[in-house]
Amino acid sequence: MEHTNLFIDGGWHDGAGGERFDVINPATEETLASVASADIADADRALDAAEAAMAEWRERTPRARGEILRKAFELFTARLPDFARLITLENGKARADAMGEAAYAAEFFRWFAEEAVRANGLITQAPASGARIIVQYKPAGIAVLVTPWNYPAAMGTRKIAPALAAGCSVIIKPASATPLTMLALMPLLEEAGVPPGLVNVLPSKKTGALVDHMLHDPRVRVVSFTGSTSIGRKLLLSAADQVLKPAMELGGNAPLIVFEDADIGKAVDGAMLAKMRNLGEACTAANRFYVHKDVAEDFTSRLAAAMGALKVGNGLEEDVDVGPLVNADTRDKVAAFVDDAMAKGARILVGGKPIEGKGFFYPPTVMTDVPENADCVTDEIFGPVAAIQTFTDQEDVIRRANDTEYGLVAYVFSEDFKRAMQVCERLDYGMVGLNRGLVSDPAAPFGGVKQSGLGREGGHEGMLEFMESQYISAEW
Ligand code: NAP
Repeated sequence: MEHTNLFIDGGWHDGAGGERFDVINPATEETLASVASADIADADRALDAAEAAMAEWRERTPRARGEILRKAFELFTARLPDFARLITLENGKARADAMGEAAYAAEFFRWFAEEAVRANGLITQAPASGARIIVQYKPAGIAVLVTPWNYPAAMGTRKIAPALAAGCSVIIKPASATPLTMLALMPLLEEAGVPPGLVNVLPSKKTGALVDHMLHDPRVRVVSFTGSTSIGRKLLLSAADQVLKPAMELGGNAPLIVFEDADIGKAVDGAMLAKMRNLGEACTAANRFYVHKDVAEDFTSRLAAAMGALKVGNGLEEDVDVGPLVNADTRDKVAAFVDDAMAKGARILVGGKPIEGKGFFYPPTVMTDVPENADCVTDEIFGPVAAIQTFTDQEDVIRRANDTEYGLVAYVFSEDFKRAMQVCERLDYGMVGLNRGLVSDPAAPFGGVKQSGLGREGGHEGMLEFMESQYISAEW
């Protein structure tokens, strides 16, 4: 654990208040590191550095910015196993999941290296006056980035790379449970050529006050947040005072629908990915399974067999598929969802009880006959539990799938393409996985509707979240 201090203006600092907090390995419950906790004075120092760095960075050509991002991609790619190990240590996820995250995180640098040169505007003629309408994109300003613990690397790079491509500087507040990966990324960015002050990292235990202070500094123009809907709402309120540009990637409650005409083998593989990628600790995790009655037995027994075959253990071990949950609270919340569903009539096919001993382990679990009033139908489980219900009518399953305040991602399995597309279009979700259990891709616009968020990350849209358009009305 080489880097445990605040990273401000290209240097490592103890917090102004001198406080530190512990980061725990969720597999062993041992302390991994003691990390400096940022104070308001540190935030002010980071803001000064970000202001100075951005003044110079925004003047660099898009190609020059892109080449530094490309270099960051290459350096990151060369060190994937090191980052994966650190991700496993602080978050718990198994090696394969951690390698997957590290590779995904690196890809944002490659994608936005390519996008940096594509902030295309427009020139056209006003229909009535004949004046020229010129539209160009400019960097929006200093961005405050707040990220969750479930993807300690990727949720950071998904924001840092587009911000830098756009010409902005950033201050990132990583989750207190997993700050080490983001701190470890800083020497790599420095080596890639990112100038001091452009990216600053402020772990903190005074999160609310620190972020609120930064959102009230007139130099800040963007707040980009990934986390729970409840904290997202607070940040939107706080951002309203200065009318900041918000990008909000919030909670989900993903339905996964298996129609009677699905390829069941493909549906089980997709369900395993949608449920067990990151052991269910993902906003995109399938939370509610709706399986047509005619194929329910076949699908459920195959899914239970696949879930039961997964090996649980310390994610650093070679053959482990499922690591621990991030902390005791998350594990206990998962256990409470299962107990509640059982009390209301659900049947357990696999798993269903926390694993005793050190570490926050919960086994892969499959529940069937889950009633509509179970808590896990309305709330995010955020753990390795598949909750299965059945349906017979297409209209009914669309209604049930849409019956939530969330709208991040839905999954549909059907071999009838016409029907599948008709269903996709009726689902009130920002993303749909059609015959696939994975939608995340740096080249695609990731994001939700309703209370799952505002704005998009990745794709072309991801960079525009850090830019403002300027329209010039001209005559010549
Ligand atoms: P969280 O509790 O909302 O925390 C996320 C981040 O917000 C952390 O850095 C946290 O800092 C910070 N935070 C907490 N209170 C704050 C406050 N009052 N003001 C400003 N920042 C504050 O969420 P989480 O438990 O880490 O992550 C799980 C949630 O994230 C789930 O709901 C999941 O669906 C969502 N998520 C969404 C996406 C997406 O793309 N839509 C992706 C991943 C996760 P501390 O750690 O210091 O408390």
